[in-house]
Amino acid sequence: MHKVTLIPGDGIGPEVAYAAKKVIDATGVKIDWDIVEAGEGAMKKYGTPLPQAVLDSIKKNKVALKGPITTPVGTGFRSVNVALRKELNLYANLRPCKIYEGVKTRYDQVDLVVVRENTEDLYAGIEHMVGEDAAESIKIITRKGSERIVRFAFEYAIKEGRKKVTAVHKANIMKCTDGLFLDTARKVAAEYPQIEFEDMIVDAMCMKLVQTPENYDVLVLPNLYGDIVSDLCAGLVGGLGLAPGANIGEEGAVFEPIHGSAPRRAGQNLANPTATILSGVLMLKYLGEQEAAERIERAVAKVIKEGKKVTYDLGGSTGTSEYADAVIAEL
Ligand code: NAD
Repeated sequence: MHKVTLIPGDGIGPEVAYAAKKVIDATGVKIDWDIVEAGEGAMKKYGTPLPQAVLDSIKKNKVALKGPITTPVGTGFRSVNVALRKELNLYANLRPCKIYEGVKTRYDQVDLVVVRENTEDLYAGIEHMVGEDAAESIKIITRKGSERIVRFAFEYAIKEGRKKVTAVHKANIMKCTDGLFLDTARKVAAEYPQIEFEDMIVDAMCMKLVQTPENYDVLVLPNLYGDIVSDLCAGLVGGLGLAPGANIGEEGAVFEPIHGSAPRRAGQNLANPTATILSGVLMLKYLGEQEAAERIERAVAKVIKEGKKVTYDLGGSTGTSEYADAVIAEL
């Protein structure tokens, strides 16, 4: 029996989260769900969007599945998501981007994974005004932070049977910070001779991803480039309803779709739960439930390929919950 924290979230969050829970439970994997509230509802009830009970539950269970959360205005948090990553030291952000047959995209073949460093870089938010007419932001890159994210990318490549890791940087210009990231990446790569390694400057990387995305496998990037390039990659494979994600640290992991709470679609049983279901697939793999994870992914691929029972964003008219039932029928 696994213990997992479930955070339904805001807007379309509860609909997609419960659809994913239903699919995961249908595999027969035994999960004891601890359902906790974060976001707008928690703000109203407890005066904070991230109650201590939520953090305690994730710290105890070590694994959470999370729906999107609306970023509240007027509290001390930049966002619940950033606060969670900080509190739980979730240093690796994993975003697989894969084209499923039946989805309309400009490309035939994309199956790559973005591994983004989640704690350092310009995202550390160390910035200030210098007088009234200038501002300064400090870019932090450490050997420790770079080493653990690059090692994570190589270990992931081995576990998932992937062939190549590409480290993305701008070390030609930022010789100290990105230079340190690249130097560390080369040293770690030398320990994994079975995996091909290359490095690429971030601007060239963007052009190549748009031209020949089929040439890339695992990308590893510092925080800011990872943020930008991972959205580019979601765009390559057909959009937000399909893009899963994971935030992983040494003491736990939070799995969530890339998309937000889409308030306009909330409560109408319209949203596509695929991104959350595929986040559940990443979670099951993390829990060691490889076979159940693969069964769900195959079932999702089949429902999308047939195209008869898909949600509005994929050109269909099936509801969130009925789409989940169609996936369960294929399991
Ligand atoms: P969004 O992702 O909620 O919506 C962007 C567009 O994509 C909308 O047209 C929406 O209808 C569509 N969309 C998103 N998910 C979909 C799905 N599963 N199925 C079908 N269509 C889908 O982005 P936004 O409008 O910029 O943000 C709304 C709120 O979500 C904001 O408060 C933002 O801060 C928050 N947000 C939270 C997270 C998170 O919790 N991880 C991530 C991003 C945004």
